Amino acid sequence: MNNKRIFLSLSQQSGFEQEYIQKALDDNWITSGGPNVNDFENVLENYLEVESHVTALNSGTSAIHLALILLGIGAGDEVVCQSLTFSASANPILYQGAIPVFVDSEPETWNICPQSLEVAIEERIKKGKKPKAIIAVHLYGNPYKVDEIHAVAERYEIPVIEDSAEALGSSYKEKKCGTFGTFGIFSFNGNKIITTSSGGALVSNSKKIKEKAIFYATQAKEKAVHYQHSEIGYNYRMSNICAGIGLGQMKILDKNIDSRREMNRFYNEVFKDIEEIKLFQTGNNDFFSNHWLSTVLVEANTNKNISRENLRLAFESKNIESRPIWKPMHLQPVFSDYPYYGSNVAENLFEKGLCLPSGSGLGEDEKDRIKEVIHAFFKKL
Ligand SMILES: *Cc1c(COP(=O)(O)O)cnc(C)c1O
Repeated sequence: MNNKRIFLSLSQQSGFEQEYIQKALDDNWITSGGPNVNDFENVLENYLEVESHVTALNSGTSAIHLALILLGIGAGDEVVCQSLTFSASANPILYQGAIPVFVDSEPETWNICPQSLEVAIEERIKKGKKPKAIIAVHLYGNPYKVDEIHAVAERYEIPVIEDSAEALGSSYKEKKCGTFGTFGIFSFNGNKIITTSSGGALVSNSKKIKEKAIFYATQAKEKAVHYQHSEIGYNYRMSNICAGIGLGQMKILDKNIDSRREMNRFYNEVFKDIEEIKLFQTGNNDFFSNHWLSTVLVEANTNKNISRENLRLAFESKNIESRPIWKPMHLQPVFSDYPYYGSNVAENLFEKGLCLPSGSGLGEDEKDRIKEVIHAFFKKL
């Protein structure tokens, strides 16, 4: 058995990427925007099935930033954000000089808790400021409680930015993630379910908003030959080369989802008799996860030397990557001064949670190596 490093999430190539990149080179379309970008947007729009307008950008982070800009969020405004997430969900709030208000998770989906969300909104209104947006995340590809969260958002008339960076191909009640919010965003970073090397997309339901997004993403150039600007712009558009990679990648999106879901079934089987381990699984058929990453909670058992960190080290000793789940934003030094609503659900998940190798390209050899570590660690050989 070889000892090549097994990573959490490696990209897979379809073999078609080269063709689209070559086309961009042949056409001399080596810049941001272009035919591959338009085609990539169309393919994504078709994939999302419902009427949607997709703007391809250079990252998921810029997509969140543009969503905030398009919602008119500026200095001193408050934006609710799920605490248990990657920092890229929250950073753009600060780019705008706005104030993040972090909210706890609930234990079923690990995502933003509808009750804590409502408490947060009520409290902020009492303090004199109604939040101007809610950033909710489908963490690890697992849909949040869409009906409950959007019911709260609608009651208070607050737009939702749906951070679907990890959830391309996931759905809730058979509707694709990324299409529920006022804005949805995707990431095509190298570790996500498909990659454009670096890239992202902003989803909205209006052609006008898409035009505005492109305007801001291309330096807010107005219609004049001499470069006229009345607003601050950004250099956020996707490059035509990256979009070529994306077109190639879209051909294996469904296959990648199958493989990642297969990894989740694999872990379900391996861990099935191990009482200290709880594999994350979606609650019922309303929730369809792409299982971008499979995650477990490790119940520490000092008599048996079982802990999240010891399991991680056992993997590491065999050159297998695993990682604690995202550290909640309200526990991060950079965000510690901002308000937080909830109890300790996200904190407990963080203490016990581990992300396991989940790449679309893991074969039987790699699965055997992973299984061996788990069996040895729990002495089940
Ligand atoms: C990856 C990720 C982002 C940011 O996407 P980039 O393309 O890396 O900028 C945002 N939110 C979450 C939850 C992510 O996992």
